[in-house]
Amino acid sequence: MATRRRTLLKVIVLGDSGVGKTSLMNQYVHKKFSLQYKATIGADFVTKELQIGDKLVTLQIWDTAGQERFQSLGAAFYRGADCCALVHDVNVAKSFDSLETWHEEFLKQSHNLEICINILLLQNSKVNPFSDDVASPADPKTFPFIVLGNKVDIGGGSTRVVSESKAADWCASNGNIPYFETSAKEDYNVDEAFFTIAKTALANE
Ligand code: GDP
Ligand code: MG
Repeated sequence: MATRRRTLLKVIVLGDSGVGKTSLMNQYVHKKFSLQYKATIGADFVTKELQIGDKLVTLQIWDTAGQERFQSLGAAFYRGADCCALVHDVNVAKSFDSLETWHEEFLKQSHNLEICINILLLQNSKVNPFSDDVASPADPKTFPFIVLGNKVDIGGGSTRVVSESKAADWCASNGNIPYFETSAKEDYNVDEAFFTIAKTALANE
């Protein structure tokens, strides 16, 4: 009998507070949406199993507990990430400008982790403190990012300030990052976006 290997992929979701990160995850994993705003949700991550080709994949999707307001998410959040989703609200210009900051922050954090791991490896000779959880240094050109422009449902697009082409241009000039327009509220493109997240993370394994 063929043994089926299960692959665990860690996905982190970054973006300004209020853009809909938690809502996108809830819609994807629990098929639920609430307009009630909760800045802090207890769980570190939620998981969802999916089949990609002949592989059974467990997506482990990490949410912030609102600390993104202070941009201090801690090393555990970033450690071993296989994909990083960057979310903005298409109705809030500032949240789109912040993509640059979150992109850089991710690259900086994973670079710092790499340095720490190397120092520990040198100090402790063979023992790798993070076992196979070590993130390879995130190369901005190859690390799988994905950008989600969320809340496209609002006002039927009348309050929109970040156009699809503006977001797509930013993605193209930052290493051809895939771009999805989403609505956590209407469950628009949510499965598609997370499926692409899983596929790109798997391809990069
Ligand atoms: P987070 O801080 O990035 O995790 O954002 P939340 O998921 O907590 O969402 C912030 C607010 O925006 C909440 O009131 C949500 O109900 C609302 N929201 C999230 N996604 C959407 C969406 O796609 N459409 C609309 N209309 N509201 C949304
Ligand atoms: Mg949240």
